[in-house]
Amino acid sequence: MLEKVEHRLITEDGRRIDGRALDEMRPVRIEAGVLDRSDGSAYIEMGKTKIYAAVYGPKEAHPRHLAQPHKAILNCRYHMAAFSVEGRKAPGMTRREIELSKVIREALESIVILEEFPRSAIDIFIEVIQADAGTRTAGLTAASLALADAGIPILDLCAGIAVGKVEGRIVLDPSEEEDKRGEADMPVAMAPRLGSIVLLQLNGRMTSSEFTEALNLAKKGIGVLYELQRKALGKKFATFTPAGEE
Ligand code: ADP
Repeated sequence: MLEKVEHRLITEDGRRIDGRALDEMRPVRIEAGVLDRSDGSAYIEMGKTKIYAAVYGPKEAHPRHLAQPHKAILNCRYHMAAFSVEGRKAPGMTRREIELSKVIREALESIVILEEFPRSAIDIFIEVIQADAGTRTAGLTAASLALADAGIPILDLCAGIAVGKVEGRIVLDPSEEEDKRGEADMPVAMAPRLGSIVLLQLNGRMTSSEFTEALNLAKKGIGVLYELQRKALGKKFATFTPAGEE
């Protein structure tokens, strides 16, 4: 029986299926303050991945017993629209969405100055409108911008991007096909000014030198996203200065 031959993901001259170089991210668009009904919002587009983030609060925590006497709590919901993926996604929250909501919340907890708002809650909604890989990192990037747009004090913005290993090569910002057929996928997010990694996951295997190469490549992509976040905020507010940089 003839086996189905899949096309190569990287050409002889090091180009990817969509024509990108190995260290090239997809075209990015980042905007702040895109929704009128929330306290803060942001939109991000990375290639075909399109995501909105909205922030409400700080407001009184409900149910009251969840309130923390010395700090605010963050509630985060990462959700994919039923029409965001190939085929149709079940409309409710899947296990994957519950897990991603948790890792994104934990990443955001490291940048928000929660102690400023005792007994209150900040709600963050991430809606994936169209998914083509990299949604957890793009969602986190949009959410951190939406928090800043809401005027919530943060130590720094955070931005994230995935790096992958495809046909033995380390690539920046894999598309869904590269993610599905590649050997490894590593979403990374950082708060660059704080110098901290706020999210890092690895599916698949890399050698330690590949891991170092991947992390450096992620850092490069994050630097670009961080500048775009600051520009988006600058467009909305005359100046944006992270706390402590005044
Ligand atoms: P991330 O979006 O952060 O890369 P995954 O690696 O879990 O997260 O998912 C990779 C991609 O697979 C998603 O961005 C999306 O394009 C696709 N995908 C995820 N869940 C589904 C689903 N339920 N149905 C179809 N495609 C999906």
